[in-house]
Amino acid sequence: MNIAIIGAGPIGNYAGSLLANAGHSVSIYENHAQVGLPIQCTGILTSDFDEFKFPLDSFLVNTINTIDVDTPHQHLSVRQKDYIVCRKRFDNFFADLARNAGATIFLSHCFLRREGRHLIIKDSVKDEEKSITPDLVIAADGPLSPTAKAYGFYHPERKNYYGVQAIVEGNFEPHTIKTYFGRDVCPGLFAWVAPESASTARVGVATLKNSHHYFEKFMREHHFTAREIQAGAIPLYHPRQALQKDNCYLVGDASGYVKATTLGGLVPGLQQAKVLADCILHHKNYEEELGKVRRRMWLHWKLQGIFDQFNDQDWDRLVTYTRRVQTVLEKHTRDNPFPIVVKALLKEPRFLYFTKYLWGKKGVKTNF
Ligand SMILES: Cc1cc2nc3c(=O)[nH]c(=O)nc-3n(C[C@H](O)[C@H](O)[C@H](O)COP(=O)(O)OP(=O)(O)OC[C@H]3O[C@@H](n4cnc5c(N)ncnc54)[C@H](O)[C@@H]3O)c2cc1C
Repeated sequence: MNIAIIGAGPIGNYAGSLLANAGHSVSIYENHAQVGLPIQCTGILTSDFDEFKFPLDSFLVNTINTIDVDTPHQHLSVRQKDYIVCRKRFDNFFADLARNAGATIFLSHCFLRREGRHLIIKDSVKDEEKSITPDLVIAADGPLSPTAKAYGFYHPERKNYYGVQAIVEGNFEPHTIKTYFGRDVCPGLFAWVAPESASTARVGVATLKNSHHYFEKFMREHHFTAREIQAGAIPLYHPRQALQKDNCYLVGDASGYVKATTLGGLVPGLQQAKVLADCILHHKNYEEELGKVRRRMWLHWKLQGIFDQFNDQDWDRLVTYTRRVQTVLEKHTRDNPFPIVVKALLKEPRFLYFTKYLWGKKGVKTNF
């Protein structure tokens, strides 16, 4: 089968490697001139990444053992193993996987539009358009997915966060990610300081509105000076986003499969790519087979609908209750929130206090 993948991000390349390995003819089209640039990501992976058994050495920057949570009046340190990777090297690792499996990556090739079964791609080096007619199309072209839009199934209610981060110098606990919560810090989400080492960190915020305002305020208050600034859109999961239409499948950020509570999309996207390749190879139903990953995305989205309405007292209260269930948090990764939520509720029924937000506050838009 002739398969065209739009987008040579890690998810498109990983799907491409699996399909090319199985003998399909895979062409990957990427509008940038290089894989992995510009960087628009903090590069934090949970230890669920271990399930893929990829060698880490070519892209690992740092290993984390603790996540600090700071709310306006509370502090909590949770032991969690995470990885911090270099996105340029990470993306190139997956590009090499795809190429070594036989896929071709066309750089500086931008998907422009669809004309029936034909896709029009612009080669920006030769400054010419060409028409391709693949049997199957995989849209792995990020949160704004021009391909999903061209196929007419990008859900109109989808929203994107905007993340802004800086590389800064300073003195950091080298194996601790710090997170800061509060309506004045980063409404609905958190600001982060993720160390590359004891002297360099990736510092950022992500919000639906006014990201630059919260970013600059955070930078000022922490006396950080940016060595480099990176920014980009991050999709908020939408439960009614269809994942397949005609001969086109969505995967990764194009499908909105990002944990809504943390905006981590790499591990779920790779899990999704594996399921997609298996479905194409064995004629299975993609949406059905994605059940486990989809349920996790759904729960993150529901929780985010609650957090989105939190005031500063709620964040403090959440930390106070969480102290009683800290071991639960330390046993599971946030990629699978179900055991965390169930065990936390059983051990600390006061979490039920937050169910009042299930129905939303007057005038506040919720996910429910
Ligand atoms: C500031 C920030 C911080 C983040 N931090 C984390 C984190 O710490 N951990 C984590 O797990 N996730 C994080 N994310 C999210 C993560 O970056 C994404 O989930 C991940 O990149 C998704 O990979 P992907 O391959 O689906 O899409 P992408 O990496 O976006 O790749 C899509 C590719 O498609 C290409 N493309 C787009 N349009 C076209 C077109 N018309 N024609 C051809 N090619 C096209 C793009 O150039 C791009 O290379 C962060 C995001 C941001 C913005």
